[in-house]
Amino acid sequence: MSRKLLVLCMAALMAMAALVAGCGGEQKAAESEKVLKVGVNADFAPFEFQDENGKEYQGFDMDLIRAVGEEMGYKVEINNLNFDGLIPALEAGNIDVCISGMTINEERKQKVNFSDPYYKSGLSIIVAKDNDSIKKFEDLKGKKVAVQIGTTSAAEVKKIEGVEVKEFNSSADTFMELRAKGVDAVVNDRPVNDYYIMKSGETNVKALPDLLTSEDYGIAVSKKNEELLNKVNDALRKLHENGKYDEIFTKWFGTTSK
Ligand code: GLN
Repeated sequence: MSRKLLVLCMAALMAMAALVAGCGGEQKAAESEKVLKVGVNADFAPFEFQDENGKEYQGFDMDLIRAVGEEMGYKVEINNLNFDGLIPALEAGNIDVCISGMTINEERKQKVNFSDPYYKSGLSIIVAKDNDSIKKFEDLKGKKVAVQIGTTSAAEVKKIEGVEVKEFNSSADTFMELRAKGVDAVVNDRPVNDYYIMKSGETNVKALPDLLTSEDYGIAVSKKNEELLNKVNDALRKLHENGKYDEIFTKWFGTTSK
C-alpha cells in the first residue's frame, strides 16, 4: 500500500470513529433526559380526555401532572390505558405514576402508594329527566345501573341490595347506555357527571343532588419507588404554594380550590 493510501485510509477510519463517538454522545444526552411515564384512562372529562382530533391530552389531571413533571425536571409522557389496567401497569413497572381521577382507598393502598390528596370528589347519580322513582342512592334498589369497571362507583353500587349492575369500560359508555335506555341510572364521580350534563347538550337527563361517599384523588406511584413518591409530593406542595395549582383548578372548575 502506498504511503498516500495509508494516510487516506487512516483519515477515513478516524472520521468514522469520530462519527460513531458522536452518535453515542447524542444517545447519552437523550437517555439522561428524565422521562416520567404517566398512566391515564383518558375518558374521564374534565380530568382527562383527548381533544376532537384524538391527539392532545387535556383536563385538570393532565395540566396538573405536566406541572408536577416540570417542577421535578422530568419530561412527561402520557400513556392511555384502561382504568382497571392502571394499577397492574404500575406494579409491572410499565408506567412510573398514574393520575386518573383515582380515589385513594384501602384496597388500592395494598398495591400502590398514593401522593397527598389533590382533589375532593364523591359519587352522584344521573337519570332520565322524566324519572321520578330515583331520587337518592337507596332508590337504586332493584334498578339497572351503569358504572365503569374497576371504579369506586362499581364497588359502591354493588353494595346496594337487589341492584342490577352493568359495567362498562368508560364513563362515556355508561352515558351512552342511559341514552339508549339500557339502564335506569348511571353512577359516576360527581364532577364527571356534572361536566357531561354541561358539555353534552343532553337535555333528557338530570344529575341528582344526592351524594354518596366523600373521596380523595391521589397520584399513584409504585411501592418500589419511595423516592419518586417524595418528589411528587414536594412538587404538589410547591404548586400549591406558588399558585399554579389554583390556576389549573380555576381553568377547569371555574372556582378556586379554597
Ligand atoms: N374516582 C373513581 C375511582 O377511583 C373513578 C375514576 C375513573 O373512572 N377514572 O374509582
